[in-house]
Amino acid sequence: MEKSLIKQELREMILAAGAERVGFATAEPVDAESFDKFTQWLAQGRHGGMKYLENYPDIRRDPRLLLDGAKSVISIAFNYYPPQLRDSSLPYISLYAYGQDYHDVIRKRLKGVCEEIERTWGAQTRICIDSAPILERYWAWRAGLGFQGINGTFILPGRGSYFFLCEIVTTLEIDPNTPIMGDCGGCGRCLRECPTKAILGNGRIDASRCLSYLTIECRDDWHVDSDIDTPLYGCDRCQLACHHNRRALPTPIEEFHASERMLSLDYDDIASMTEEEFRLTFRGSAIKRTKHSGLLRNLTKLRR
Ligand code: SF4
Ligand code: SF4
Repeated sequence: MEKSLIKQELREMILAAGAERVGFATAEPVDAESFDKFTQWLAQGRHGGMKYLENYPDIRRDPRLLLDGAKSVISIAFNYYPPQLRDSSLPYISLYAYGQDYHDVIRKRLKGVCEEIERTWGAQTRICIDSAPILERYWAWRAGLGFQGINGTFILPGRGSYFFLCEIVTTLEIDPNTPIMGDCGGCGRCLRECPTKAILGNGRIDASRCLSYLTIECRDDWHVDSDIDTPLYGCDRCQLACHHNRRALPTPIEEFHASERMLSLDYDDIASMTEEEFRLTFRGSAIKRTKHSGLLRNLTKLRR
């Protein structure tokens, strides 16, 4: 089959699995400039306690090491913007965490696509959803999905940044897309809105100051200036400020919609939760990542 037809068929297959956008890139080493930017960020210690980002630099540099004979990286964006938001009087929970854990949801949806690729073209595949050392925003850019914003998020022109990015690395040869050469055009709203001044201004974030990192990934106690309103889990302020998100449309993926319980969870519900109740409430949710102790720690920081 012609490469352009393979591409067309694949795109339809992936969109039918619920994806919003899909793009294709040739599997080859990351360009030197982009990789140097990443290693400098690590060398400056901007990744806080996320030491796992230092692992497997050779694989992160070259996705062909993820799968023998890899020829292409398929970059895929899934919309998570929920149709119903929590009331602003409730402790803030990041929008991406309203529904079921995206790792499980997306893997399940892409499994059939990979089986189809293997059956139709006899090619090997590997799904990456935060589960492999790969520079996902770089590959989304290379695959023509959009560009990286000053706030470090990946922006799909016309649709914004409320998207999960994931990849399928495959031995199938697919015509690559052309990267989009867009940028933020000097807007700077996210820089002004970030309460902890964690945005470094070059598409990189100082994770050790970022409330998203502090409330989710950080395992220790953390402190910010006492006049800052802190969230319970994650932080979207730099995304909420971004004009690209004014046109965000609700996700059609029901697994990313909030349950009634998620929409109403308040301070007292969380303060009185036992460890067992935490486990039951957030089973299948990304929020379990911060653990019961982490959520209670975050709760003690809220200004009431
Ligand atoms: S997520 Fe919040 S703290 Fe982190 S960079 Fe964005 S606005 Fe700043
Ligand atoms: S708020 Fe402005 S500078 Fe920040 S990511 Fe959005 S467009 Fe770029």
